Amino acid sequence: MRNCLFCHGNVSSAFGWSAFLGLQKRHPVCEDCENSFQLITGELCEICGREWTLVAEENRHGDTCSDCFRWEGDPETTGLLQQNRSVYQYNEQMKDILARYKFRGDAVLAQGFQKEFRNTFEKVWDKKVRPILVPIPLSPERKYERGFNQSLLLAEFLPGKPEELLSKNNSDKQSKKARRERLERENTFYVPEPEKVMGKSILLIDDIYTTGTTVRMAAKVLKDAGAKDISSYTLVRS
Ligand SMILES: [Zn+2]
Ligand SMILES: [Zn+2]
Repeated sequence: MRNCLFCHGNVSSAFGWSAFLGLQKRHPVCEDCENSFQLITGELCEICGREWTLVAEENRHGDTCSDCFRWEGDPETTGLLQQNRSVYQYNEQMKDILARYKFRGDAVLAQGFQKEFRNTFEKVWDKKVRPILVPIPLSPERKYERGFNQSLLLAEFLPGKPEELLSKNNSDKQSKKARRERLERENTFYVPEPEKVMGKSILLIDDIYTTGTTVRMAAKVLKDAGAKDISSYTLVRS
């Protein structure tokens, strides 16, 4: 008997013959917890990967939501991010787990998402043309506080070795300035070795996609450094 990573309840071992024979690797999450998370399914906004049924009629612009429509309508940000795909919706349970994962430093919780994070990745990204996996970095200050980079841990669940080709400076202030201005002036990401991203397809890995500003800030410096195209993959889409 083993306890669930998230709620510490029992994880049932009734998984049939393969489990009995020890052929199946035990999943560290109980069924109740597993069912409390919502996978993103069905039709999606072409760009940000938001579930299309959650996009109100008045916010639909062709195949994209109004957020993406605005990003693409701005010459400074158009085409920066090819697409984002995410695994889970940001519901109450997910909020709670993410807070424990990131802010209370329960790094081990990441393991509960390993299976689904990898499954969805394999469905979306073709085996033959796999991009370089680049985790969204933390500033040195934040990394010191937290003790680990949550995005790197997620990236390590995927096939291929993550490459830390992005770095981030310390000044971390978020302001109410227009997002376009933030992309230019408050962009604390940088590419230490541009020759490593030149002409490459990059897949940014992060825990959550909210407004899309973070991944576009990262995409901007990568593009400036010569990257061919940039997409992102996150555990959660809020
Ligand atoms: Zn549980
Ligand atoms: Zn969108």
